[in-house]
Amino acid sequence: MIVMKFGGSSLAGAERIVKVGEIVCGQLKRRPLLVLSAMGDTTDYLLEAADTALKKSFVSVEKVEDIHLKAISDLGLGSALQKEIKTLFWELGSLLTGISLTRELTGRTRDCLVSFGERMSVRIAAAYLRTIKLKAQAFDAWDVGFLSDSSFGQAELRSESWVRIASFTPTLIAEGILPVITGFIAKDENGNITTLGRGGSDLSATVIAAACKAEEVQVWKDVDGILTADPRLVKDARPVDKVTYDEAAELAYFGAQVLHPRAMQPCMKIGTPVLVKNSYNPAAPGTRIEAGSDKNTSLIRAITSKKNVTLVDITSTRMLGQPGFLARVFSEFSRNSISIDMVATSEVSVSLTLDAEKDLAAVIRELSEYAGVEVRTGKAIVTIIGDVRRSSEILREAFGVCTKMGIQVQMVSHGASKVNISFIINDGEADSLVTELHRFFFTEPEEKKKAAKRAAKK
Ligand code: ASP
Ligand code: MG
Repeated sequence: MIVMKFGGSSLAGAERIVKVGEIVCGQLKRRPLLVLSAMGDTTDYLLEAADTALKKSFVSVEKVEDIHLKAISDLGLGSALQKEIKTLFWELGSLLTGISLTRELTGRTRDCLVSFGERMSVRIAAAYLRTIKLKAQAFDAWDVGFLSDSSFGQAELRSESWVRIASFTPTLIAEGILPVITGFIAKDENGNITTLGRGGSDLSATVIAAACKAEEVQVWKDVDGILTADPRLVKDARPVDKVTYDEAAELAYFGAQVLHPRAMQPCMKIGTPVLVKNSYNPAAPGTRIEAGSDKNTSLIRAITSKKNVTLVDITSTRMLGQPGFLARVFSEFSRNSISIDMVATSEVSVSLTLDAEKDLAAVIRELSEYAGVEVRTGKAIVTIIGDVRRSSEILREAFGVCTKMGIQVQMVSHGASKVNISFIINDGEADSLVTELHRFFFTEPEEKKKAAKRAAKK
């Protein structure tokens, strides 16, 4: 069995859904199970509608409705489905009216509202797949065992989900059914709909794959795989053919936006390979993510950046070598539910980075009782994912590039066994540094290789 996950852009309209059908038909022998996101930008629209409802008394979801109804008519799907989808839109409209009237939007309501995107896309896709003679059946995640906690917007799946999914889905496949399951959503113990965080259908797919011991998970996107850099920034960014789970997770976390950061965990646990493919270019090989191999000898795999980061410098005002200083610092952050990204320490001070949106007032107050605190906003983390065994070389070269560009590195993090080397610079310098590093590590060496080949031929 394999799990095939299709993202929003792979489902953006009738034409794309037809393409999905073709891709699935090409792999029927491998007994696929589908996990789908919402169509196109539906999730963004729905979240926007929720916020508008808080301020206005009438919110239209016509745009989203049009996308769905048009797909149904373009695909020639029957009136029964149209009626089903219209009912869902009616419910969605009522929910928005409720928000408008009460001027209140809880996390629970927001999750219920965005869940409509995935619930509609699976119904439409399954109906279409049936017209091409596949035994497709749409399922809401909770009907195949997805049970989460109640952290709306960022729910964690409960461990029982694994057993429930593993006992339910393989039976469907054995019956020759092509399950088409909603990504991104689950229900908590009280039956409330929850969501797994933006981009969460990747996680839904990897959880199903790991729980059912699938042969492979395919994540279908609109890019040729995990790229060496953000293609919006670096025109000649190219797909990486292979990365390890660790590398993929670091890339996702530090801004590569290809996969949900937590999506690697289930597959890493079981060893299920993940293949990132492009539904707009299925012939491209894509990126394969699997357990580490020593064979990969390229110096670096990819470069990413994460902007809008805050740097906090904390210096102990008490004596040197005071035991428990770091423990105390970290516990202040943990008590205030602020998660730390990068850390660098010296004997008397510690620097760390956080997402800028966090409210730091309480932590600063507590830390100031025993330490000097300096908060610097407008920073960026540039991360290089590379071969740890050659980290000195990577650092030397990367710093060389920074020096040439007159960029001052404000903090560095590089762990003993970690795959990433990250440094903090000013936000405004991030784009040009990524571009330059890419040119230095990828474009130039390749051009040199090509030139050498040409010279040898002559
Ligand atoms: N539709 C959700 C989102 O856009 C989940 C997903 O696409 O994975 O975040
Ligand atoms: Mg999406």
